[in-house]
Amino acid sequence: MKKLAAVLLALLTALSVFALAEGDDGGEGVIHFPDAAQADSFVSDGDPADVDPYIPETLEKGIIGKDDRVTVKKPKQYPYSAIALLETKYECGCGYFGATGFMVTEDTLLTAAHCIVCTQHGKWAKKITFYFGYKSKKNSLYKYKPKWQAWVGTTFPGGTYSSEDDWAIINLNRKIGDKTGWFGMRWCSNDELMGHSFCMAGFGGEPKLSYAWGEITNVWDKQIGFNNDTLPGNSGSPIFDDGYYAVGIATSGSDTENYGQRLRDDIRQVMVKNGLL
Ligand SMILES: [Zn+2]
Repeated sequence: MKKLAAVLLALLTALSVFALAEGDDGGEGVIHFPDAAQADSFVSDGDPADVDPYIPETLEKGIIGKDDRVTVKKPKQYPYSAIALLETKYECGCGYFGATGFMVTEDTLLTAAHCIVCTQHGKWAKKITFYFGYKSKKNSLYKYKPKWQAWVGTTFPGGTYSSEDDWAIINLNRKIGDKTGWFGMRWCSNDELMGHSFCMAGFGGEPKLSYAWGEITNVWDKQIGFNNDTLPGNSGSPIFDDGYYAVGIATSGSDTENYGQRLRDDIRQVMVKNGLL
């Protein structure tokens, strides 16, 4: 896992290319850290039902071909409309522009925990602006700046960083999913993941929205390995099937394999306990 943390930091360093000279302050938020006692009290209530995706009637459906990395020409089409570019201001005053998150209910999105941390100074996000259907700062389907609150799986980097718990659930103060749509969520078994093809879409590179297909090459209790082509900024990207059901969150990568969080019961339980599902 040490190696994983190293590649993760390498990805983040590359992300700092998008550090802002000036801030366009987003909405303020509160972050809830993991509570060990609560984690132990998780009780699974059997096989959870999938959460269905939602496609607003007002939005066209985008094409998701089975190609290698493709730049999305129309990011305002679903499901790209449900993917956010995050512009974050941290407690230390640093800013980043370029991480990814994705809607999974009418008012909640998922990303990687490290997407809302300044790794240089170990400070958490204070303000975030979410751009959905992003083409440029002045041209997006929906720009969200009001308040938010987040639940994260790890106290990285102030406390213990766990690459196995590098997830964040962010609840927005408005039901913007009516406009952006959202991905479904599927809680897959090992067999449903291993060797199967999934798409990953996020704001890598410039940042520009692109997608890439690949296969799940490794399955662990909490994480998955996959061979989709990723770029810095893809952290927090949805890994989803052709029915728009997300099965994972991209978090890190190396030359040979990329890694992500599985959508799994402990993440689902945090959503249920906090009234988000
Ligand atoms: Zn900083």
